[in-house]
Amino acid sequence: MTAVEPRPDLADLERPALESALDARGHKRFHARQIFRWIYKHGVTDIDAMTDLSRELRATLSRDFALTTPALAHRDISADGTQKFLLRLADGRYIESVFIPDTPANTFCISTQVGCAMACAFCLTGKMGLVRNLTAGEIAGQVRVLAGALDMRDKKFNIVLMGMGEPLHNYDETMRALRILADEHGFGLSARRITLSSVGLLPALERLAREPVMPNLAISLHAPTDLQRGELVPINKKYGVAEIIAACKRFPLNRRSRITFEYVLLAGVNDSPQDARKLAKLVAGVKSKVNLIPLNAAAGIPFERPSDEAIDRFAKIVADHGVTVSVRKSRGRDIRAACGQLIVEGPKKSAAQQLAVVM
Ligand code: SAH
Repeated sequence: MTAVEPRPDLADLERPALESALDARGHKRFHARQIFRWIYKHGVTDIDAMTDLSRELRATLSRDFALTTPALAHRDISADGTQKFLLRLADGRYIESVFIPDTPANTFCISTQVGCAMACAFCLTGKMGLVRNLTAGEIAGQVRVLAGALDMRDKKFNIVLMGMGEPLHNYDETMRALRILADEHGFGLSARRITLSSVGLLPALERLAREPVMPNLAISLHAPTDLQRGELVPINKKYGVAEIIAACKRFPLNRRSRITFEYVLLAGVNDSPQDARKLAKLVAGVKSKVNLIPLNAAAGIPFERPSDEAIDRFAKIVADHGVTVSVRKSRGRDIRAACGQLIVEGPKKSAAQQLAVVM
């Protein structure tokens, strides 16, 4: 018996790959541009709706390709205007994506995995374990769905890869999604508008430094020493603080850009004046800025958010060392859309089963 290959998905294809696929079927390569415009600019989810393609071409496409789009299962709107989207994937699994208005730009916070394997001690997504990687089509598909639901196809927006998952742990699909989003016949999103946030998986970070579509880089640092960071970010035992800082120093930055170091502030854990001084000295040699994220507390997370005074004191010490520092305003906490609060529970697998996938 021969296994039936699943049909390639138009949503997964970069334009050059689509051009080759059309060519191989005796169709003109330029139709790829039209197809991209339909999918990304007009938000079409059905091949038959691509009305400037010939019937014959639409029939070929429908026979040989799928076109899969995440389904909008639920939408929450926060008092501060933040919106959280629960999306159902083709296999019935769920992910979350968040729209954050005016920060100052409009920003889509996008997921790269169902769950996450990194298990950072303060993050709810980490509690899920990794269920599976998203495909490029599912990553870029979140942008299609949000841009459509928010009527923002023709508007400018930023993308942050700060939803569920560790983007560098799903490297190839994430980069393919960025190339799809950057395509001039699709969203035409400039790499300057994209920020990738990572715990710092070193080999992937070295690869990222050579990418054609190079996003801005944010590193989840969270502590100035290996001893402290190892407790919070388990992967630090493999890729330590000094190595990450060295990789950041080597990272190619264009004239105006800087690396962002994210630092979740946890009361009594990493928020002392001494920690602030160590942090400032650590990042001093990197063209960077520090973004402090006061913990978004949740049931099951064994940490507390520091007082406003402790946050201000920490920020001031870092700033006094000449490092640019900002405190991230928490958005959408009332709808559990804030950093580290994305978790999807469904009638799928138990937490233990999910964890077993990671082990
Ligand atoms: N896996 C990537 C991107 C996801 S999270 C990364 O780790 O960078 C985006 C940011 O939110 C990260 O800096 C993450 O550490 C932070 N975060 C996670 N849980 C949080 C929480 N409970 N409160 C505040 N920030 C949190």
